[in-house]
Amino acid sequence: MVKMEKFFFEVIVVGSGLSAKTTIVSLFKKGIIPFWIENIQNYKINDDRTTMLSPKSFKMFKELGLKDFEKKSFPTKKINIKTQNQKNFTVFEDKKSLPICYLTENNVLHQELDTLISKIEKNKKLVKVKDEIRSIKSDSDNNEIVLKSGDKIYSSLIIGVDGANSKIRKIQNIKTKDHGIKKFGLVAIMEHETSHPNVSWQVFSETGILALLAKDIKPNKRAVSSLIWSLDKKQIDAIRNLPSKDFEKKVKEEFGSSLGDLHLISKINEWPIFRIDVPNPTGTRTVLLGDAAHSIYPLAGQGFNLAIGDILQITDTMLWAKERGLDLGSRVVLNKYVNNRKFWVNSVTKMTDSIDWFFSNTSNNSQNTFGSLLSVSNNFQPIKHQLVEIMKEN
Ligand SMILES: Cc1cc2nc3c(=O)[nH]c(=O)nc-3n(C[C@H](O)[C@H](O)[C@H](O)COP(=O)(O)OP(=O)(O)OC[C@H]3O[C@@H](n4cnc5c(N)ncnc54)[C@H](O)[C@@H]3O)c2cc1C
Repeated sequence: MVKMEKFFFEVIVVGSGLSAKTTIVSLFKKGIIPFWIENIQNYKINDDRTTMLSPKSFKMFKELGLKDFEKKSFPTKKINIKTQNQKNFTVFEDKKSLPICYLTENNVLHQELDTLISKIEKNKKLVKVKDEIRSIKSDSDNNEIVLKSGDKIYSSLIIGVDGANSKIRKIQNIKTKDHGIKKFGLVAIMEHETSHPNVSWQVFSETGILALLAKDIKPNKRAVSSLIWSLDKKQIDAIRNLPSKDFEKKVKEEFGSSLGDLHLISKINEWPIFRIDVPNPTGTRTVLLGDAAHSIYPLAGQGFNLAIGDILQITDTMLWAKERGLDLGSRVVLNKYVNNRKFWVNSVTKMTDSIDWFFSNTSNNSQNTFGSLLSVSNNFQPIKHQLVEIMKEN
């Protein structure tokens, strides 16, 4: 077996987003120290998005030791949902009034993860390079990776966490179904006059799917929410170019009077929404995690939560393999990972696709029927609680 000890690493992680950083910290906590290839153009990230974390993801970050993360996260205990023509919202909440999800700022997550990673680096436990992979030769012994700098490194396993346009996925020829960018996520921070602590709101309307996610309450009792509006290209241009006052009016029209007047307190930004399926996110001595393995519509706030599920599973699988003295990049180890992940990834992808399809392609009548069903479910607490349990599970 060709292993150049100096340049051999059991695991190499490629990518610089939230999923890559979380993977590094998660593996390190379990005693696996990866080699990290950061993006060569790793400019200072300004990711102004917020992320709804499931209770499971939230717990994982707490256990990883993110210091100020809990203080800077905002729990949602109720989600009020309606279709545009419904008068009243249907309320989804946990049986015991526990949080259903937690809102966190992506920039906060980046900062907290960077702090943990720099501690690992200071202890000289993490080796990293800012470089790009030029080629990979994988065989039954190992991966031989040639970097743009000309350096050569070897590994048992490559973990590709390099986003929707994953280069690792392309180099390793992993079969991909790319549906392209058909939607954009418009994001902004809004203040509203009527505060409903720990309540988030979602409206399914003909202009797209619109959510106001509970953030803080200001000393003047006004509430601050994070807005995400999933729109197609035509709609986004029209809405994004509205003067602030008209934009605020438009959002108020969608939610009705429950929130009082709404005011924009940030810039409006737009993010492309990729839709990519990877039926089997593994190749020879390679596994893809996060958006590199599945880019879905962020309709139920699920994309990054799926990545967290991947990270928990790969960490467990690595430990399982190590306990048995198995080669971490071997097919038996990769298959174990895929078999444990594929059902949940497929289920969440289908659920978000179905919601998107229904609200993009059906008539107002059908959507009103859905609205009526939502209202009816208001009277069936067990059904609603079951749905909440599914939301919390991811
Ligand atoms: C508007 C919007 C709102 C969202 N809201 C939510 C939410 O509420 N809840 C939720 O769970 N999810 C949400 N998502 C989804 C979530 O943001 C993504 O799933 C998540 O950011 C994916 O992270 P990632 O690290 O896998 O990919 P990315 O964030 O794309 O990161 C990939 C990284 O790899 C780097 N890279 C690329 N190529 C290379 C290379 N060749 N070598 C080295 N590095 C490379 C890139 O520079 C980048 O830093 C939302 C998405 C959008 C668009």
